[in-house]
Formats: sequence, structure tokens, C-alpha cells
Amino acid sequence: MNDDTRNTWNKATKAVHAGTRRSQYGEVSEAIFMTQGFVYDTAEQAEARFESIGPDEFIYARYGNPTVAMFEERIAALEGAEDAFATASGMAAVNGALMSILKAGDHVVSARALFGSCLYIAEEILPRFGVEVTLVDGGDLAQWEAAIRPDTRAVFFESLSNPALELVDIKAVAELAHANGALVVCDNVFATPVYSNAIAQGVDLVIYSATKHIDGQGRALGGVILGSRELIRKTVEPFMKHTGGSMSPFTAWIMLKGLETMALRVKAQTAAAAQIAQALQGHAQLSKVIYPGLDSHPQHALAMSQMGAGGTMLAIEVKGGKEASYRFLNACKIGIISNNLGDAKTILTPPAFTTHQRLPQDQKDALGITPGLVRISIGLEDPDDLIADFMAALSH
Ligand SMILES: *Cc1c(COP(=O)(O)O)cnc(C)c1O
Repeated sequence: MNDDTRNTWNKATKAVHAGTRRSQYGEVSEAIFMTQGFVYDTAEQAEARFESIGPDEFIYARYGNPTVAMFEERIAALEGAEDAFATASGMAAVNGALMSILKAGDHVVSARALFGSCLYIAEEILPRFGVEVTLVDGGDLAQWEAAIRPDTRAVFFESLSNPALELVDIKAVAELAHANGALVVCDNVFATPVYSNAIAQGVDLVIYSATKHIDGQGRALGGVILGSRELIRKTVEPFMKHTGGSMSPFTAWIMLKGLETMALRVKAQTAAAAQIAQALQGHAQLSKVIYPGLDSHPQHALAMSQMGAGGTMLAIEVKGGKEASYRFLNACKIGIISNNLGDAKTILTPPAFTTHQRLPQDQKDALGITPGLVRISIGLEDPDDLIADFMAALSH
């Protein structure tokens, strides 16, 4: 099969077949090449491979590995990106994407509503290396426009933010960034690869924590950076392969198998999330039900045009603060209290006291991370069972 045939496949076909490399044994399930290195037939071959590496040639697993290459090709095909580099975790991907394109003296504009570790990179690490970071309210285009300058090298945001589910208008921010020569780096975890058109919408580097919907079953940490061949191979790869954040072959195998079922899982989780959000909306014990698929979400129209669906995550605010939200959490019998997301199991998280515990109160207030807020990652259980469980827990 040549690449031209593959490019005409629809996503479901790519999710199962793209990137497949069969060994001489013709295995059906992708092989795990659990090897750190590769043997050369001759010294001349070793020399030639270090000089220039072919598409089916490998040197050392930190640089590349056949199982990892299968995962990179499959996720790149799904995302509509030219190329990808797989990483040891989502944070290795965020750090690698930013550090590989930035240098001292550069300016970055970032949305304020970020996953805790992403915020640590923006607020603590980048400034330590002489990168100036301006934080903006990601949903407010005027703030992006005011903050982006001719010396802005990159803009960074989560397209759908954790935990308050605010959207960034990818196309509009990309236009502002590109007009100033800045690269667009998007952490697209909450949108998922299933509802992503990020490359077409103008993102230069798309990042996923594969730990979330790509694995989808809570087994392994992983991540990926996607973009043009030029950016991935000339800028991202040299940084990643020399700094050690590469994905292991075993993890790549888990993620490859995850990609085969990802769309089925994410679509079922999204349908369930929509049904559950609808059922919870207006409940007397809740001051808020936040779900981008609901008409009541302030950016519902943008969610529909950008993602085409509301996604697998919702957030509720229980009336009565911490005490009431903890009573709800402790009374739920199906959803588990944890901090992963995109999992087959429904996962409940109180962000104010866990993932975002360290934020100062004023920042929590600005991000809507109130004591009563509960983030819910909808799993693959029967949605009617989940609704009954949530209703019972709310009446506790
Ligand atoms: C989980 C997550 C990350 C980090 O991914 P890890 O695989 O845990 O390193 C980054 N961004 C977002 C939005 C996430 O949800």
C-alpha cells in the first residue's frame, strides 16, 4: 500500500491500519519491538545510517523504534498531520514542543486556563530560561490581540480547558498568531483526536497526552507531538531524541491498540456525557452544569463548529461548597474518585483540592475552580446507571 491510498481512507480505516509494519512473520497484531538498539550488517552500513536514516531504518530506541513509528504514523494519519513524535508522557510532549521552538529572549502568549503542570511550565520553567510569558483569558480574543507582539514566537493554549471547559477559538487565535509570525501550539487533550480539526484550523504543533483517550483504559503514560514534517523532524525530533523523553515500544503498542477502538469509545462517552449533562441540568442541588454540548454553555456554537460535539468531559458545581461536593463524591457508587480522564471508568475529581490545589485563591476564582466544582470524565458504563447513581448521590 502506498501513502496515496492511505490518504484517501476515512478515519475509522486509518485508526485500524495506518502505519502498520509487518515483520517477516506476517503477524496480525502489531509486533512489540522491545529492543533498545539495532544491528548493522557491516561497519559501512552503520556509517551510512548515521549519515542519513531511511524511513524503515533505526539506530537507537531514543531516536526511533518500529513499534513507536507505527504509533506515530497512525496518529499522524488520524490527525491529518504530516508527521508525529511520540513521547514518554503528555508533559514530555508539552515541554518538548515548547522548549524545541523557544530560546532566551522569546515571548510567548498563553491562555491562563491550563492543566496544572502546563501552567508550571508557562509560569516557572520558561521564565527561568529567559522566555517572557504573558497569560491571557483564552476565551477573550481582544486579550490575545493585545498580547501578541511582533517578537511573539509562540502562542499556547488548551483548545478546551481543564477543568472549567472553556474553549479557545483556534482559527481566530491562529490568524492573530500567524499575522505576527508566531507558531500555534495547542494542547488538544480534552477535544480528543476524534473531534479534532486542529491542523486544518491553523495549529502548527498539536499535543496529546496519550494517557487519556488514546489509551483510554488507564494503563500507561504517553504523549505525542504532531505537525508538519519540517517542524517535527527538524525542530522537535532533535530536541526530543537528545533529551530523553521518547516513548517506550511497549507503551507504543498499548497506544496503537488504543487507537483502534478510540473513536468507538469517545463517541459512546460523548453521547453519554450529553445525556447525563441534560439530565443533571437544572437539578436543585447544582448551581452549574458545564458541558460544551449544552445550549446553556456560553461557547456552545463555537464548540459545535470547532469540534462538532461536546466531548467526554463535564463539570458540575454542587451547592454548599466543599462539604456538599465531598458528600456527593463519597456517595457515588459507580464513578471512582481519581484524576485521570478519558478512561473506560467514569472518574470524578474535585479540582480545587487536587489537580489545582496549589493555585492561589485569586487564580482559582479567575478559572472558576470553586470548592463545589466536580470534574467528571464520563466512561463506558450504561449512562442510565450513571444518572441514577448521580441522582442518588446528590440527594444524600
Ligand atoms: C493529562 C494532561 C496533560 C499531561 O499528560 P500526562 O500524560 O499526564 O503527562 C497535559 N495536558 C492536559 C490537558 C492533560 O489533561
